[in-house]
Amino acid sequence: MSEVLEPGGRRGGRARAPEAPGSLALLDAIDEGLLRVEDGHVAWANAAAARMAGLDRAEALVGRPAPALLEVEAEGRAPGPPPDAVVCGLRRPRAEALPVALRVLEAPAGGSFWLLREARGDDGDAGALAEALEKSRAEVAALGERLAREIRERDELLMVVSHELRTPVTVIAGFGKLLLSEQAGPLNPEQRRFLEESARSCRRLDAFIGSLIAGPRNGSEPARPCGREASLGDAIRGVVTFLAPLLDERELRVDLEIDEGADRAWFDREPIEQVLTNVLGNAQKYAPEGSRIRVATRPVRDGDRAFVRVEVSDSGPGIPEEHRERIFEPWVRVRPGEGAGGLGLGLAICRRIVEGHGGMIGVEPSRDGGSRFAFTVPVEGPAGDPPA
Ligand code: ADP
Repeated sequence: MSEVLEPGGRRGGRARAPEAPGSLALLDAIDEGLLRVEDGHVAWANAAAARMAGLDRAEALVGRPAPALLEVEAEGRAPGPPPDAVVCGLRRPRAEALPVALRVLEAPAGGSFWLLREARGDDGDAGALAEALEKSRAEVAALGERLAREIRERDELLMVVSHELRTPVTVIAGFGKLLLSEQAGPLNPEQRRFLEESARSCRRLDAFIGSLIAGPRNGSEPARPCGREASLGDAIRGVVTFLAPLLDERELRVDLEIDEGADRAWFDREPIEQVLTNVLGNAQKYAPEGSRIRVATRPVRDGDRAFVRVEVSDSGPGIPEEHRERIFEPWVRVRPGEGAGGLGLGLAICRRIVEGHGGMIGVEPSRDGGSRFAFTVPVEGPAGDPPA
């Protein structure tokens, strides 16, 4: 999945408020609050919406689950909703919820727009308020049901797609195996190397499809790996070679700093390669064209256990602080409208794999304002595990 940034770097400024989608930039100037909601989360908000929610910056709303912004019970507050609007409380930090009239409009490209107008205290009566509240309760419940249905449908679609993908991958792997066995004629060393690389990619893709079918659900148990001692440096170099065509396409250089004392570790090679592929693949997508990506390892300890810490740093747009925990949950993307494709599943799968190994994964700002993803891999297997 490669991507060419627009001239000037659409995602150049790290601390910038999220841009309004296309011509919606003008909507930042209006008094009504406007939210664009995708997958149940705020994908964009205008300045008025942030103001109404008691926040300084619109970007502080981005990524939050939209229904959690609302408090449906707004008893005792005066109404004044426009027709078809829902009166509810908009939650604010360190302040009472603000009574607002909310309208939900279908967005043509999917998702919805939420239009918020402050409900004033001087233009309604108690009966109208009660009626509006009742209606709001029903509408918020319907919204919740619709979200749950959409999530279910997406999970089902994912399972069908994964199954359909598995068949051709198995066929490709099977023919590759046949060619490698030289039943169809002798191979020269280069042909053998190409076929071995393609067999490795097939295995990695198959493992990835397997984890999609298993589904990285919230709260699901991390997968238990079948680890053994191996070289992380070799795994890193293998993934860099595998991604070389995509890295070259965007003229990205990878600087490897493998600490000699932080190479041997205990891990299951294919899943850890999947973690490296996802993290390095993201750096490849988000780093500015022609820039450098740094991959480094160093020894760390957590209590009695020794770990190798693997870091992948880029100078891309970085991950805003409020997203640094959440992006490891399934389906979360920082900028859902961005053109980089993806479902927001990769990092959730990475967390599952890393935690399954007994390690941890996280992200922090890199030295030059981009992202530094880091995960740890234990040097030795869990106590009591038989040596592999
Ligand atoms: P996706 O399939 O969307 O890439 P991931 O779980 O791998 O899913 O990543 C989640 C989100 O985190 C991405 O959609 C992107 O918004 C953000 N992200 C991941 N890596 C980077 C990075 N190196 N720089 C900036 N943003 C990133």
